[in-house]
Amino acid sequence: MIPFIDSHAHLSMLPKTPEAVQTYIDEWNTAGLAWIIDVGTQAEDLELRIASITQAFGTQDETKLVYSAGIWPSAEAIQHRHRYIDKLTTQIQRCPRGLLVAIGECGIDRYWNHPEKGADIQGEQELLAAHLELAQIYSLPVIIHSRDAARETLDVLKAFPRVQGVIHCFSYGKTEMKAFIKQGWYISFAGNVTYKNAQSLREALQEVPLDRMLLETDSPYLAPVPHRGKTNNPAMVVHQYEVAARIKNLPLEELAQQIKSNFTSLFIRP
Ligand SMILES: [Zn+2]
Repeated sequence: MIPFIDSHAHLSMLPKTPEAVQTYIDEWNTAGLAWIIDVGTQAEDLELRIASITQAFGTQDETKLVYSAGIWPSAEAIQHRHRYIDKLTTQIQRCPRGLLVAIGECGIDRYWNHPEKGADIQGEQELLAAHLELAQIYSLPVIIHSRDAARETLDVLKAFPRVQGVIHCFSYGKTEMKAFIKQGWYISFAGNVTYKNAQSLREALQEVPLDRMLLETDSPYLAPVPHRGKTNNPAMVVHQYEVAARIKNLPLEELAQQIKSNFTSLFIRP
């Protein structure tokens, strides 16, 4: 079976009636989903997510569930960043390695946090830098959210040259892709790479080095074509693999093996 991987999902935001959960598990098994990272967005959500996801989905033989913990840059999180980072640190310390595989998502969002709307730009960069410090202390990779802020994001990453990670749901073009790659980071493409108007994303995908590419759903958001508008779930990552295999001109199986090796070397360390 081809080992598909969804390196970024928010399982706790999916419907969790027993019927819905069973449908998801069936779809994961049919697709051959090998790994899912459930990604955190709030200072204290890690233990709650592990508890609710384990309760709903149980332990799956076929699909391994692992977790990240980080703080999405909301105005509130930026304002209370010192207190929030303390809370996040406690959660990271308490979680076994192997179950917790990354810091994030964290980052810079100039779409929501716009200087003209009075956003605290410096505070936002400090919040990201605090995550990178944690990554350094705990030797974990980082999952970065970066929207309309490629340069600002890179500025912070450059201050932490030993920290590795992935720019998730990549939304820029070739030039920005090359800058992140040069800095040693991975690039992850989400469902929007399948959208008709996403030509510059597909150009970035075409040129991204094969050994630095990851794929993800960002479930429940951004369902890929042909499911656009529906609730996304990790099984739909198969559509990103199909698009990527076509653009990279590779057999699906070969692409999947490469992504698995990228995923393993970044997140599943010995
Ligand atoms: Zn996300």
